[in-house]
Amino acid sequence: MDTLDTKTLQEYDRRYVWHPFTQMKEWESEEPIVITRGEGSYLIDSDGNRYLDGVGSIWTNVHGHCKKEINDAVKRQVEKLEHSTLLGLANDKAAILAKRLVDIAPPGLCKVFYSDNGSTAVEIGIKMAFQYQQHRGKPEKTRFISFRNAYHGDTIGAVSVGGIDIFHGVFRPLLFPTVQAPSPHCYRCELSPERNSETCGRLCLKELERLMELHGPETAGLVIEPLVQGAGGMIVQPDGFVRRVRKLCDRYDILMIADEVAVGFGRTGTMFACEKEGITPDIMALSKGITAGYLPLAATLATQKIYDAFLGEYRELRTFFHGHTFTGNPIACAAALASLDIFEEERLLDNLPHKISYLKERLKALLDIPHVGDVRQAGMCGGIELVKDKESREPYPWEERVGIEVCREARKHGLFLRPLGNVIVVFPPLSISIEELKQLLDGIEDSIKAVTG
Ligand SMILES: *Cc1c(COP(=O)(O)O)cnc(C)c1O
Repeated sequence: MDTLDTKTLQEYDRRYVWHPFTQMKEWESEEPIVITRGEGSYLIDSDGNRYLDGVGSIWTNVHGHCKKEINDAVKRQVEKLEHSTLLGLANDKAAILAKRLVDIAPPGLCKVFYSDNGSTAVEIGIKMAFQYQQHRGKPEKTRFISFRNAYHGDTIGAVSVGGIDIFHGVFRPLLFPTVQAPSPHCYRCELSPERNSETCGRLCLKELERLMELHGPETAGLVIEPLVQGAGGMIVQPDGFVRRVRKLCDRYDILMIADEVAVGFGRTGTMFACEKEGITPDIMALSKGITAGYLPLAATLATQKIYDAFLGEYRELRTFFHGHTFTGNPIACAAALASLDIFEEERLLDNLPHKISYLKERLKALLDIPHVGDVRQAGMCGGIELVKDKESREPYPWEERVGIEVCREARKHGLFLRPLGNVIVVFPPLSISIEELKQLLDGIEDSIKAVTG
């Protein structure tokens, strides 16, 4: 089955695969690119065409595709043990990885609860926070504060704390209600008419504090994507915002749950985004980059204080009754360990600043294009917002799908991109070279000009 030709593969895909976030009626009328290989920053299709992976295979890839050291680690692990449960047993790779994660995590996070995707990592955080409040004698603390434009995954609990109406609206009747705070989306600030980034952040915090004053006593936790709201459109928070949110959570006795599923593992220039703000959340969700894009794995980290609240006699029912079948899978953990080794051996974080500056310079230059309204960046993650009218910031109507058109055009330049509405996303493997980054930004620039010109 490995050697089917492109036509047959496309036929099988069209006939049998239901793709995520995809209008299948359209998909069925197109010829999909079928990826069969990966090499460094490139994906290679069944006809041998190469595409620079501009979105790091949906924000997961760190060291490039088919990285020898990770391949070898996975092969070695497969020969030893493919899976064994964490229900009633430990396994070596899960134990070693937990220690390594605690070593690099913001100080104070010291317990690792495994699962296998970002949505579950967040839901586990929500359930932990909820049950924690019960155990410490605050059963009235049952609510959560979430942010507008937030994305925490697609399962029902994760959607409940999400704030993107176009994805989440249809499921509203199924969701638990949250207290929704404004997010500092300076370019489109709803709170400050002058849309100035400093006032926007300040006004958002003021409103957050007002909501906490009102709902604090009944609130268990606050869920935040620190530094960058990813799927909401690569919306970058002003410096100090996360730090102030941490302070407010302390003041109103609310647990802070940091969703670092997208930004963890070096994306913003430090190992974790919270590190940039010098804070430790009470709970931190990790996934995407954890295995460098190799295998599904997630971890929810918690502090000793939270963990201790779950300790007791068996009959007291303080146990955290939650677990997934593939929790702590040793092959996935082996890939994650190999990835952390590469971070150290290749001094990956030390090598990022010049790539980050290059990206910054190139993004800034894109503002000269008439329909580029805003560019946003945090480390090696960038967003380019296209607008119909720059003066008034009038967006392109979503039905025009200008983002999709730009990404389609970019294929002619040998790039694979995936937009977020009218925002073109730049999220390449962290291992990308400057030459490849140049190819990526040149292609994006030309594609934007071709489509919006
Ligand atoms: C992708 C993402 C998730 C969901 O992860 P899945 O593995 O797709 O379930 C959650 N939070 C953030 C910030 C994400 O970017």
